[in-house]
Amino acid sequence: MIEILSPAELLRAKEAGALVANILHTLKGRCTVGTNLLDIDQWAKVMILEAGAVSCYVDYAPSFGRGPFGHYICTGVNDAVLHGLPRDYALADGDLLTLDLAVSLRGVAADSAISFIVGESKPAQSVAMIDATERALRAGIAAARPGARIGDLSYAIGSVLSEAGYPVNTEFGGHGIGSTMHQDPHVPNMGRPGRGYKLRPGLLLALEPWVMANTAELVTDADGWTLRSVTGCRTAHSEHTIAITKDGAEILTLPTLP
Ligand code: MG
Ligand code: MG
Repeated sequence: MIEILSPAELLRAKEAGALVANILHTLKGRCTVGTNLLDIDQWAKVMILEAGAVSCYVDYAPSFGRGPFGHYICTGVNDAVLHGLPRDYALADGDLLTLDLAVSLRGVAADSAISFIVGESKPAQSVAMIDATERALRAGIAAARPGARIGDLSYAIGSVLSEAGYPVNTEFGGHGIGSTMHQDPHVPNMGRPGRGYKLRPGLLLALEPWVMANTAELVTDADGWTLRSVTGCRTAHSEHTIAITKDGAEILTLPTLP
């Protein structure tokens, strides 16, 4: 089902989006060499509950996972790109960390992911990969407006990723969002312009380009959740929730904290 939000629901979506973005912003600021992924999860839990929000993850039990996720944030290090289950691991200098967070606030969900490098060293390949996903995300958002089709967004995202030299996986991509975290339409990270659902004001989409340095193939970790690159190469992921407006698109998951 594709949901079109009312103006009142859109206001709540903006609050949910700002909350997600502010939590990610705060967590990024706390992540240093030695930070444990389980501490990041606890910090996320506290901020979600203090805001009166509901985690979209803790009870999440889709067909592709192993039982309820049981944690409040996805933490992917280096070769872990999607659904990274927090584990007892202390971040090292130069680690590429992806934080992916979705919460529901007063019945409306928002979803965002950021990738960044921990510590002082800045491996060039990792910097380039993060930059490619951020540029692809901006291209997808720029293509989003009433009358555009999902294929236009997919094409814009996929073109940036492909031109940057990354193979694109189309199993997991963006999605509609609203009263629940994952809704139709699916937004693959590669597609043909002019195809697919036509965007309308009030539609919320989570766009999420992600790449792996040298493969498009994933392997599931022994934890039953974390998806890693099959070659062990590094990965990156950037995601925003956007609202289609009458003029274009508004990004809902930008931090409002200084
Ligand atoms: Mg996400
Ligand atoms: Mg998402």
